[in-house]
Amino acid sequence: MTHATPVVLVIGNTSTADTLSDLTALAFDAADRLRLHAVVAVGMEHNVDDYAGVVLDPSWLDSTSAAVLGAEAMERDMCVMTPEELHATFEPTRACTHCGAVRPSARPRLIGGTWTPSVCGGCAQASAVHRSLAHAA
Ligand SMILES: [Zn+2]
Repeated sequence: MTHATPVVLVIGNTSTADTLSDLTALAFDAADRLRLHAVVAVGMEHNVDDYAGVVLDPSWLDSTSAAVLGAEAMERDMCVMTPEELHATFEPTRACTHCGAVRPSARPRLIGGTWTPSVCGGCAQASAVHRSLAHAA
């Protein structure tokens, strides 16, 4: 699987509904703060080479598939950060990454299992945005 846009892979233990929910929230934060697409790694059907970077949740060692992916990511010369580094280094996006307006409704949207960078409600509703987001840098 290849991506037209930089996508961040969030790696951690997804074996229970609770931990999956935590990682989904972390992926939301990653998409918002990094202004990139973000997806939670579920299972091992991911190639870390396809991703722009990795957010490694501390739970990654609790899961075999996450441990394998995490180890692969660390072997690469790629950006790997912890949730603490994400939150300490990057501020939440307050503006829509599509129209640029500062709107409270600007937040990542979940499309096909991938969080988009933050967009406002109006832009999220325009189906054209989905196409343009897919080609955004
Ligand atoms: Zn907008």
